[in-house]
Amino acid sequence: MGWSNWSGSVTAAARVARPRDEGELAALVRGARKVRAVGAGHSFMPLCETDDLIVALDAMAGDMVIAADRRTARIPAGWSIKRVTAALWAEGLALANQGDVDPQSLAGAMATGTHGTGTDLGSLATFARGFRLIGADGEARWCDAATNLDLYQAQRLSLGLFGIATAIETAVVPAFHLAERIEKRRWAEVRESYDELAGQHRHIEFWFFPHADTVILKTLTPCDPCDPPASTTDMEETAFRRVLDIAARLPFLTPFLQRAMMRTRFDGGRRGPAHAIFPSDRTIRFEEMEYELPRAAGLAALDEVVGWIRRKRLPVTFPFEYRTVAADDIWMSPMNAGPVAAISMHQYAKMAWAGHFAAAEAIFRAHGGRPHWAKRHRLTRADVDTLYPMAGRYRAVRRAADPAGKFLNPHLEALFS
Ligand SMILES: Cc1cc2nc3c(=O)[nH]c(=O)nc-3n(C[C@H](O)[C@H](O)[C@H](O)COP(=O)(O)OP(=O)(O)OC[C@H]3O[C@@H](n4cnc5c(N)ncnc54)[C@H](O)[C@@H]3O)c2cc1C
Repeated sequence: MGWSNWSGSVTAAARVARPRDEGELAALVRGARKVRAVGAGHSFMPLCETDDLIVALDAMAGDMVIAADRRTARIPAGWSIKRVTAALWAEGLALANQGDVDPQSLAGAMATGTHGTGTDLGSLATFARGFRLIGADGEARWCDAATNLDLYQAQRLSLGLFGIATAIETAVVPAFHLAERIEKRRWAEVRESYDELAGQHRHIEFWFFPHADTVILKTLTPCDPCDPPASTTDMEETAFRRVLDIAARLPFLTPFLQRAMMRTRFDGGRRGPAHAIFPSDRTIRFEEMEYELPRAAGLAALDEVVGWIRRKRLPVTFPFEYRTVAADDIWMSPMNAGPVAAISMHQYAKMAWAGHFAAAEAIFRAHGGRPHWAKRHRLTRADVDTLYPMAGRYRAVRRAADPAGKFLNPHLEALFS
């Protein structure tokens, strides 16, 4: 009994069940008053929380089936991205893009609009071509662009509201290798040339400690054939953890600690199969908010937030992460109005975050931002209506799919009932 998310900020006094097949899952859904699906529990918002039943699909039987044209694969929805990409690699295939880590389930990542970075690359949800769902009535349904179109459109970014996905047909690409390059660069120089750099690299992002004037720039470039692996230079987590623990006790030292840390070397990189290079280890727990801003507004919004943190000497101990994501046409996607700059703000899990996030959120909203659904935000139902023209249609599909609100929890009820 009991469940907690990755960061420890969301807990639920629920029963957690691990069905082994669709029959068991359907019986669990039929018998529950309320049910939420969970993947790896990597969401910071209370998306999986319920006081009744949580179902995890990691023990479900099922295999990946690759289409004859090798452009799509039907994949068990509860598989982690790590398992999906390892299985694809064994078949000479890959996902076109991935996020920072790979323990998330395929269903959970798509359900929240999880993305990586890349000017021409959309979120993982843009790879979905069809879903097999166990509905609130316990019946299995398929939806895609030709069958149950409205359900498919809503399900592409579903927040788990329309049923429990057991399989997802996903676009795949031929396997490729990546070369990672990490370098410390002056912030002023990266800010000046960011658009040019983003045009030159398939994947680019930077990490920016708000009290320092250098950033860690990371690029990923396809390399086939690829030279043997170079040395790994992931940010040294032991040193970083030490800095964070000092900052947690003595927050006023944060600006000094960040500047000192950025004087160390960060240059390096890795090479290898794409699915091994996209993710990094994240062993230090943090809380996160992320806003997707119109691409042209991103750097100005970042300037304003960083300026405010510096003026107030706020102990924001983690770096901002800045990425680019292509536009899409998904009803509830924050990328559906055009390409975005995705700005993540993190705070060490042992330190206060809510006040800092709320103040920064106001700045991001003023620059036209919309939040990542899995990460901390304070949208109201009225905000959802203002930001998403398709919100009414999304709610209508939800009502038809789940009239009794079995898949709702208090957070989702407030926004989507
Ligand atoms: C360390 C870390 C790194 C991260 N990196 C990135 C990143 O690089 N890019 C990014 O965009 N986000 C990132 N995130 C956010 C993360 O990708 C999302 O929270 C994602 O939803 C997590 O997947 P999950 O399997 O843990 O889903 P959960 O958090 O378990 O669930 C998320 C949602 O999916 C629903 N769901 C899960 N399984 C099913 C199913 N089978 N059927 C229907 N609904 C289902 C749940 O009900 C819930 O609404 C990161 C989070 C952490 C903690």
